[in-house]
Amino acid sequence: MVELDRKFRHAFQDRLVRWYRRNGREFPWRVNASAYQVAVSEILLQQTQAARVQPVYEAFVNRWPRAQDLYGASLADVKALTDPLGYHIRGFWLKELARHIVEYHDGQVPDDLKTLRGIPGLGPYAAAAVYVFGLRRRAALLDTNVARVLTRTVGLPVEGSIYLDGRRLQVLAEALVPARRHFDYHQGLMDLGATICRARSPRCYCCPLRNIYRVVTGGRPVAVWQENDVALVGQRTVGFRVGSRVAVEAS
Ligand code: SF4
Repeated sequence: MVELDRKFRHAFQDRLVRWYRRNGREFPWRVNASAYQVAVSEILLQQTQAARVQPVYEAFVNRWPRAQDLYGASLADVKALTDPLGYHIRGFWLKELARHIVEYHDGQVPDDLKTLRGIPGLGPYAAAAVYVFGLRRRAALLDTNVARVLTRTVGLPVEGSIYLDGRRLQVLAEALVPARRHFDYHQGLMDLGATICRARSPRCYCCPLRNIYRVVTGGRPVAVWQENDVALVGQRTVGFRVGSRVAVEAS
């Protein structure tokens, strides 16, 4: 269990949503895409940059706008369109996606996270993305970009293990998802991780979360984990250099 400072949580959610509405990247799968089309985009985006995926995605959903259309297509036709992106197994996963939706779910993307996770080719992250972006449901999304933003802004208790850190990150991600606006919140979190809070050279000087650190340094910690009746305070462990100065001081 994690207890988050209320003021911090609201500021974190609010700033992300507002930043995304002004600065979010425009992708066709973010605009009026059905749950099936979001699932297609998630499979196309695996191991591939969004800019390369975009034209293929548009051609794909033009040709096969519904799961039923893709179900009737040949694997060879699907691969002819998707193989130029590399990672050739994805053509097979796309066909499997359509087969599962049509044969087991009456042509509808299942509105249930556990069932979505069982669809071959989606995996835990893509299933959650379809749930959040395609079905507009509330769930926590956690990929490497999101994990980086969360650990840098909130921190994790020290002396963790990889297992503990993964579990704590999941708990933290769930505690931070707002009750409403979770579509924009998650898109913002992912865009921020991809474009501002980059792994090697974060652009802290233009980050909407930067001033939020005052909440951390001003006094009470923003996050406290309760484990085995012991309170463990979240700590940021690294400062980030931008040019010749430290942009964000370590806790
Ligand atoms: S201030 Fe810097 S380190 Fe913190 S979230 Fe923003 S870009 Fe990442």
